[in-house]
Amino acid sequence: MTPDATEDVPTFADLGLRPELLKALTVLGYEEPTPIQREAIPPLLEGRDLLGQAATGTGKTAAFALPVLQGMPEGGGSGRPLALVLVPTRELAVQVSEAVHRYGRDLGTRVLPIYGGQPIGRQLRELQRGVDVVVATPGRALDHIGRKTLQLDALRMVVLDEADEMLDMGFADDIEAILQETPEQRQTVLFSATMPPRIDSIARAHLREPVRIQIERESAPPGEAPRVRQSAYVVARAHKPAALGRVLDVEAPEAAIVFCRTREEVDQLTETMNGRGYRAEALHGGMGQEQRDRVMARLRAGTADLLVATDVAARGLDIEQLTHVVNYNVPSAPESYVHRIGRVGRAGREGVAITLAEPREHRMLKTIERVTKTSITVEKVPTVADLRARRLELTRSALEESILEDDLEHFRVVVDTLADEFDLVEIAMAAVKLAHEASGAAADEEEIPEVHLRAERAGREGRPRREPAPRGERHGRGPSGGMTRIFVGAGRSAGVRPQDLVGAIANESRLSGRDIGAIEIADRFSLVEVPDHSADDVIASLRHTTIKGRKVTVRRERF
Ligand code: AMP
Repeated sequence: MTPDATEDVPTFADLGLRPELLKALTVLGYEEPTPIQREAIPPLLEGRDLLGQAATGTGKTAAFALPVLQGMPEGGGSGRPLALVLVPTRELAVQVSEAVHRYGRDLGTRVLPIYGGQPIGRQLRELQRGVDVVVATPGRALDHIGRKTLQLDALRMVVLDEADEMLDMGFADDIEAILQETPEQRQTVLFSATMPPRIDSIARAHLREPVRIQIERESAPPGEAPRVRQSAYVVARAHKPAALGRVLDVEAPEAAIVFCRTREEVDQLTETMNGRGYRAEALHGGMGQEQRDRVMARLRAGTADLLVATDVAARGLDIEQLTHVVNYNVPSAPESYVHRIGRVGRAGREGVAITLAEPREHRMLKTIERVTKTSITVEKVPTVADLRARRLELTRSALEESILEDDLEHFRVVVDTLADEFDLVEIAMAAVKLAHEASGAAADEEEIPEVHLRAERAGREGRPRREPAPRGERHGRGPSGGMTRIFVGAGRSAGVRPQDLVGAIANESRLSGRDIGAIEIADRFSLVEVPDHSADDVIASLRHTTIKGRKVTVRRERF
């Protein structure tokens, strides 16, 4: 496979973005647009409607946020919102707001996330003070529209983000009602990870001759597939550096390249890994040629084991001794994955590709598997016990090598004198202990929590993904591992459906629909599984809300 050195990738400036935005992107360390940004930004800047199929991890937020910001008046507008972004969860509302804020910093754009669970008073004050971009969950947006505290008459742009997820959560009517309130002449953007018929009908009803883009359309570049063992680990963001360390310890690569998204991430990770005792070198587009040459020389000479790089910086590099490619995040497009892993497994040698994925990026991993027609095995992050076993194994082979190759006569006198007093095995064990400790990579003994992934949902066909459970079969089964079962004092006779519970939980807490486990609905009550760590949070927020218009009892299930 040819390296991607010859490819002509447009820059953000080529896409026609205004200077304030270009500056923000440089500060953030984004080196080039991702495929979805390349395709979506130009038509959006022309004012076209757009229907995009893209999952989290592709860079879709910037793909709509930058065009939203392009038309913003400097220093903020009249105070009535010019853009509305609808998202399924509170978590995403905060994330998208932060992204808009970061990109729009130099423009003075005011952005406000509004979602259920947050005191409405603060939102009212902010809305009154004047906001340019609102990022909202549908329920709370509708609430504000009803109160006339959210005015949509000045809107120029509406974005529906993760539209399939919003429909799954039962927000279809709310979205419909909100769109009715927006000006006819608005620009409308819809992003969805899947395109079930229900999304198509929303698009037909509300988008005008939309440009359609699909990020998995591009097929893998032709060429002989390299012999690469591919695996992935699903870990929460906070545990990524520790997980990377663990995986590297167990894999023991000769030389590895770790791909990051931005310059900032490269610098941070290099520092973290050096702090953890690895010899890591940073390589990114902000570095001069001389600096780059020095880094490469250190890698080739074996005085560094780890190269932490952006795609741009690594373009055209050919590193003979590379055994491992690590994607610190799921790549933004399948072809980028293929280019990256093409750097190992050359000339008949086996290579290893490792991807660290956050739980939300799991879908992108599936897309990559499908498009590249390869299989990526999701493995468990090595545990502390695995790590200890691996380290002992390394000590064992070091000792074996020493027995076979070294001249040990010099040490006989120590063993002989100790043998007068102690058993030979005991002496050997003490020596192993000292050798083991002396070899010591910094022991990092904290267990990394395992992330449970839900099965792929049925959303692809547009079917609701949770079926009501059969009646009264709650006895004798505990919750699944890592999950807590919550009792909600309303059930079928109150008209409760699974999507009501998912909607209430996702709207009120930090969980997304995917984090919620099995749901059982009995006549008078329901049981919902949520991750252990969020149980208290979910209970507290459900107690503050209503389900089917009623306040209900919410507590942990008692066995
Ligand atoms: P998203 O798919 O929108 O959730 O974005 C995934 C991640 O990629 C976010 O952390 C973004 O900050 C990052 N990102 C988006 N666009 C780029 C880019 N062109 N270069 C580097 N990182 C990016």
